Amino acid sequence: MTQSQHETRSTCCYCGVGCGVIIEHDGSRITGVKGDPDHPANFGRLCTKGATLHLSARPDTRALHPELRTARDLPRSRTSWDTALAHAADRFAAIIDEHGPDAVAFYISGQLLTEDYYVFNKLAKGLIGTNNVDTNSRLCMSSAVSAYKQTLGADAPPCSYEDIDHTDCLLIAGGNPAYAHPIVYRRIEDARRANPAMKMIVVDPRRTDTASDADLHLPLLPGTDIWLYNAMLHVLLWEGHADDVFIAAHTEGFAELRKHVRDITPAVAAEVCGLRAEDIVTAAKWFGESKAAMSMWCQGLNQSHHGTHNGTALIALHLATGQIGQPGAGPFSLTGQPNAMGGREVGGMANLLSAHRDMANAEHRAEVAALWGLPDVPSQPGLTAVELFDAVRDGKVKAVWIACTNPAHSMPDQARIIEALQAAEFVVVQDAYRGTESAAFADLLLPATTWGEKEGTVTNSERRITHVSAALPAAGEARADWVIARDFARALGARLGRDADALFPYETVEQVFAEHVESTRGRDLDITGLSYAVLDRLGPQQWPFPAGAEGGTATLYTDRRFATANGKARFVVPSAATTAEKIDARYPLHLNTGRLRDQWHCMSRTGQVARLYSHVDEPRVEVHADDLARRGLKDGDLVRIKSRRGEIVLRAHASNAQRPGSTFVAMHWGRNALSNSGANALTAGRVDPYSKQPELKHAAVQMSRADLPFQALLLRTETSDDAAQQLTLTRMEALAPLLARFAYASLSMAGRDRPALVLRIAHDQPIPEDWLAELDRLCGLDHPACLAYRDARRDITKRALIEDGLLTGIRLTGETAAAAWLREVMVERQPTAELRRWLFAPLATPPVAAKSRGRIVCNCLDVAEPDIVEAIAGGADLDTLQATLRCGTSCGSCVPELKRMLDARRQAA
Ligand code: SF4
Repeated sequence: MTQSQHETRSTCCYCGVGCGVIIEHDGSRITGVKGDPDHPANFGRLCTKGATLHLSARPDTRALHPELRTARDLPRSRTSWDTALAHAADRFAAIIDEHGPDAVAFYISGQLLTEDYYVFNKLAKGLIGTNNVDTNSRLCMSSAVSAYKQTLGADAPPCSYEDIDHTDCLLIAGGNPAYAHPIVYRRIEDARRANPAMKMIVVDPRRTDTASDADLHLPLLPGTDIWLYNAMLHVLLWEGHADDVFIAAHTEGFAELRKHVRDITPAVAAEVCGLRAEDIVTAAKWFGESKAAMSMWCQGLNQSHHGTHNGTALIALHLATGQIGQPGAGPFSLTGQPNAMGGREVGGMANLLSAHRDMANAEHRAEVAALWGLPDVPSQPGLTAVELFDAVRDGKVKAVWIACTNPAHSMPDQARIIEALQAAEFVVVQDAYRGTESAAFADLLLPATTWGEKEGTVTNSERRITHVSAALPAAGEARADWVIARDFARALGARLGRDADALFPYETVEQVFAEHVESTRGRDLDITGLSYAVLDRLGPQQWPFPAGAEGGTATLYTDRRFATANGKARFVVPSAATTAEKIDARYPLHLNTGRLRDQWHCMSRTGQVARLYSHVDEPRVEVHADDLARRGLKDGDLVRIKSRRGEIVLRAHASNAQRPGSTFVAMHWGRNALSNSGANALTAGRVDPYSKQPELKHAAVQMSRADLPFQALLLRTETSDDAAQQLTLTRMEALAPLLARFAYASLSMAGRDRPALVLRIAHDQPIPEDWLAELDRLCGLDHPACLAYRDARRDITKRALIEDGLLTGIRLTGETAAAAWLREVMVERQPTAELRRWLFAPLATPPVAAKSRGRIVCNCLDVAEPDIVEAIAGGADLDTLQATLRCGTSCGSCVPELKRMLDARRQAA
């Protein structure tokens, strides 16, 4: 490190694993990132996403100054912060005066820091007097929260990552940590290596990389989880694995649940779940016979219309066997977002109050009112995410403030969300990025700081709080989220005649944290022993950490006393429901949604990093080959996927990971990457009755060929890495609004250090010349130096830009068979002599000798699938692959896939 370089400790801003990172920077620019060896969540490791964080810290797509439009038919224009906040305060005050406090709402985010959340929550509930503040955590963890509260009494995951090292039976339910929580998965791999007798059971309709690595994979039908866990409980009870002493002393409600599961035999559940009864018995026996059984779950259980009971049914296995509150045992929900837990700690949701208090509890409301120096806080239930946007659509909520989240991408049933945002009288979007799908609806866009520029705290899946520091000053005129909320509160307070200065006295973020700390006194998450100074001295700490404690708490309920009024955990008799929407003759396929290995949420950050597209480079629907064949389709065809709410066109990808009858679409692609809204055009807003979490994981769909004979392809880069980085992002931003014109269009990137944009188009009629001209202009392919070829008879055109002997741009229409070769010529900077010959020949397909490198499996070391396949065919095992090709030797994210490829080869042999 040179003298001008610095290191600042922070955390990764992607998933709830909460890995510690060290940001390398020169005071004005982030130059690198590495895992923090001292952070207990990751001990220096990072996955593909975390390891490329610095590449996403670019100013090109940032919101850098406030923008305001004064009428819907006008574009937004730059304005000052004073004008922006005054305008927002005027609009909110006018609506509150005329329609009351419940006519406004805030929709915030699990990506915010705890302090940001705290101020927003106080703004809504303390100043305005509405509980209409909900968050995208409602889409993520609220069913896990309800399940914990119904059974253990508090929103408190009892386990730690350390428990992975001590378990001898790990049940992973509705999760693919190899992709979605990779650093937790590295820890699981370590534990299995250290203890080869450890069993890993994976419950997932798909044969994911996690599932294919399991000792037992239970590929159940979507929505049938409760039946499986009830049948496992049946086996545990009837095989004598119940801990009767624990049940009698520390639980209640057991008799009712035992009666309920009496008839749910493995045979009965096998029929409902589409599993083999003997596999259910095996899973139950492994769980019951283990000294320490641990379960992990994620969105596969949470994002269901019975997500709460999915969780309680799983937790019941632990309560029935006493497998909780001891090393290596207990239920452990893996948090999706980096700070979903921090948000709940401060009560930043429609049904919660500060420090895990409940809005519905009068005593809790009085406590919060006293803490805030107010006579009371509102008792009217607030609107949860789906209800909130329904109310906006119906005109009951007239102004909505969206912070650090993107509902126009992530909410189910996108058609309704778009209608809502169009119907709202006033939409504020507060975000670090100006180009999100939701920002398009903003009347007021407020630029916020983001990762690397923020100070505050964040809580990961294992209740561990980290103090993160800012490495750089804010970009442009961006401000910290808590500062924006505070300043708006002060401006609004003045208009409403309330003393907001007293309610929001904070001048530093640490003052906000101190107030939050005080609010937790005596609560289950008491952190009165923490301060920024303590966190800096001791490092990240797990709550509870009350005053006087010497350290955090790794495991909860070690004394067998639970967080209920009488200290006993509760068994819950669950619902018998399966999916909210059933398949039928018209919609005969299950749609499952989920995550890719190298992308995160709506891609506003990962979507800026070219190498993160190399694992999956085009949006796609994964389908079993039999389902394709039955419809006369094949791998690579464009297909139309339709549900009762909408339809989308995607490229079909034949995949053995799918059960016949099931399809899978990753949730990352929205209208910035596609000509449609992606998976959430299809999903429904049916919610769990307790958690109000929508069933984002499932819809009934049909699939048919998308007959789109008119194709186009556009690739564009620059001769220099820097120009390519900047111009690719700005060109993609310019192209995104045009995608919806086409029956199918997708926008992605190729390359590594010198990115290229990739635009694929397929249309049902000839693509108008003026549309093509617009694409050329936006991508600099209207350049006079462009080479052009037209075959009018076959309606083929080729247009190429060659600069300094390198292909920097190409646009094809009519035939795109050479796409993969052209991409290689561009990103690998190959000589262009052959390209020139091809360009002016009637050939549409690539030259015979041209070979594409293929998909990249190991992102860190740039190792392609064909090279790995060739090595495996030559007899390589994992060690040999790692020694020769070096794949899987850096972050390890590709190791599960390498193992799967080796398994496939073994089975084929
Ligand atoms: Fe970030 Fe990966 Fe760690 Fe999640 S597992 S916090 S995405 S580095």
